[in-house]
Amino acid sequence: MGEPYLLTPGPLTTAIEVKEAMLRDWGSWDGDFRAMTADVRRRLLALIGDEAGEFDCVPMQGSGTFCVEAMLGSFIPKDGKALVLANGAYGLRAAETMKYLGRAFTLIDKGDYLPPRGEEVAAALDADPAITHVVAIHCETSSGILNPVAEISEAVYARGRKLLIDSMSAFGAIPLGVHDVRYEAIVSSANKCIEGVPGFGFVIAKKAELEAASGRSHSLSLDVHAQWAYMNKTGQWRFTPPTHVVAAFLKALEMHEAEGGVAGRGARYARNRDVLVSGMRELGFETLLADRWLSPIIVTFFNPAHPAFSFQAFYDLMKAKRFIIYPGKLTVVDSFRVGCIGRMDEHVMRRVVKAAGECLAEMGVDSAAPPEAAIAERARLAA
Ligand SMILES: *Cc1c(COP(=O)(O)O)cnc(C)c1O
Repeated sequence: MGEPYLLTPGPLTTAIEVKEAMLRDWGSWDGDFRAMTADVRRRLLALIGDEAGEFDCVPMQGSGTFCVEAMLGSFIPKDGKALVLANGAYGLRAAETMKYLGRAFTLIDKGDYLPPRGEEVAAALDADPAITHVVAIHCETSSGILNPVAEISEAVYARGRKLLIDSMSAFGAIPLGVHDVRYEAIVSSANKCIEGVPGFGFVIAKKAELEAASGRSHSLSLDVHAQWAYMNKTGQWRFTPPTHVVAAFLKALEMHEAEGGVAGRGARYARNRDVLVSGMRELGFETLLADRWLSPIIVTFFNPAHPAFSFQAFYDLMKAKRFIIYPGKLTVVDSFRVGCIGRMDEHVMRRVVKAAGECLAEMGVDSAAPPEAAIAERARLAA
């Protein structure tokens, strides 16, 4: 088997059982497929521990970004105003989406990776009574930082505002139950921590918010209320569903449950991260983030300063050893990323570390230490 491991934050390496679930065709209107859709919705809802039945789950076709846009366009009223919290590409994308929607927003941009903190959110809300909603990114996948959403949520609800969370790369591995964090709606997608294949995402929202979203969306296909109402009435998706992807996702959800749900999945990813980070540090690599902010989802490492190091050469050598890594997304210093999610465990991560060491040797890089500028940049984080 020559298939490489995808050490990337989705699409990611999936189980053979998940791939096999796609080997048959389903009629989108047929009772069997409608039952699968209902099962997916029920299983996803079970992950947030909503015993009161206050929330519902609405799958939406498209990649994760489609779902973020659907959530923003459906839950933020045309005369509302959002405070978008950004510390990387996905926060900035949410802000850009607000521009497309033509809805008012203000931005707190913390740069590449500094976390938005509760007190900053509180101050911004106190200063601007027009803000109705706050948009937060749970794990900002561009740096791998785990943002303090519980602290943010407290600041938001203490001031009577509402929180919408992009939990794309965290949901299913990091607790986001209704008893953990208060919010109106969250979004995630099939190809992240649940370990399905790409093709759809889902919104989990308070039923009261879903009701209130009627007639509000800017878009026919991204109207969460319309999808919800139609699905509840007919059991079907409004437009052609990605049937094979849904079948694969249902298998992935069964495997998620068998692994111990959010706690079990999160524990495996945390072990993946711990083995990766300690092994890479032994090789001399340094992480962008201090341990406190390191997510079990994806880790950013600085490129070594050594003149013989090049990311492309490193990437190609890693790929030859069947590991696909991910380029970095920082603006100040060069970096690369290694994902900890997908169908792999700490034994695979040990092999990743071993491969990285061999690649350095093949490149003639005898020190993986980052440049001074990287260390100086990182010191800002601790300050
Ligand atoms: C993956 C991801 C998205 C969605 O990206 P798509 O490429 O549209 O699937 C959005 N937000 C975060 C934080 C992500 O990790």
